[in-house]
Amino acid sequence: MHPQGHGSGNLTELCEANRAGIRRSAVFYFGAPMTDRTAKHRRDRTHDAHRREAKPWRRWYKRAAWLRLRALQLSEVPLCERHAAAGDVVLATVVNHRVPHRGDWALFTDRANHESLCESCHNAVAQAEEARGYSVAVDATGWPIDPRHPAN
Ligand SMILES: [Zn+2]
Repeated sequence: MHPQGHGSGNLTELCEANRAGIRRSAVFYFGAPMTDRTAKHRRDRTHDAHRREAKPWRRWYKRAAWLRLRALQLSEVPLCERHAAAGDVVLATVVNHRVPHRGDWALFTDRANHESLCESCHNAVAQAEEARGYSVAVDATGWPIDPRHPAN
């Protein structure tokens, strides 16, 4: 937090410079200009990140067991699986859980539940699941894996 608030001229300029910096890096990273909508979205995501800190399994992502599984997944499947399905080659940087583990260690560490994604696909998956309340991931037969899916 800024101890002097946003009233001071220097601080306002600094904040504007920071925002411009964020906008520039967003252009670099996503290849599209940052709109007011994505700026708001970014603030919401920061809020979500704070909320998620309350969940004890957030710490699992720092465990050696997870770091090893994550490295293994990204070395075996280095490309984003969803982009690959559409014929696009994009480097994966995130290991997604096909079925959200919600604190289930077995699901968290199950290699069959790991999916290599790029950051933008991972964000899209996370938002869709949050809005829907269940995952639409399917098994080899095409049936939804998530027990909370209406088909199950
Ligand atoms: Zn992707």
